[in-house]
Amino acid sequence: MGNHVCDALVISCIDFRFQKYIRKWLNKNFKDKAYDYVGFAGATKDLKTILKQLDISVLLHKIKQVILMHHEDCGAYGKESAPERHAKDLLKAKKTILKHYPHLQVDLYYIHLIKGKFEKVK
Ligand SMILES: [Zn+2]
Repeated sequence: MGNHVCDALVISCIDFRFQKYIRKWLNKNFKDKAYDYVGFAGATKDLKTILKQLDISVLLHKIKQVILMHHEDCGAYGKESAPERHAKDLLKAKKTILKHYPHLQVDLYYIHLIKGKFEKVK
């Protein structure tokens, strides 16, 4: 195994409608950083899958930061795709991640359909 490292793990939904917004945001905000990027339907909805991926990024790439992105009108959530529900799941994911890896910086975002506006979730 090599000792290649990177700064962050970025997790988003697979929804094709948001990929151009995510790319644009990453190009702007992570211009000088290296990151692992994965997409799962519903992003953190299946937390177990997320944690498995996180373990690998921490172990192999010694990441220091995790970016979790949910979005408006998410098919994986269907009728439950309300901003409050996404915020709740994002915060739950952050809490769980910090329990396993307290040293990580975890940032949460909710992406709007209109113009792909990124809203920080706190
Ligand atoms: Zn989605």
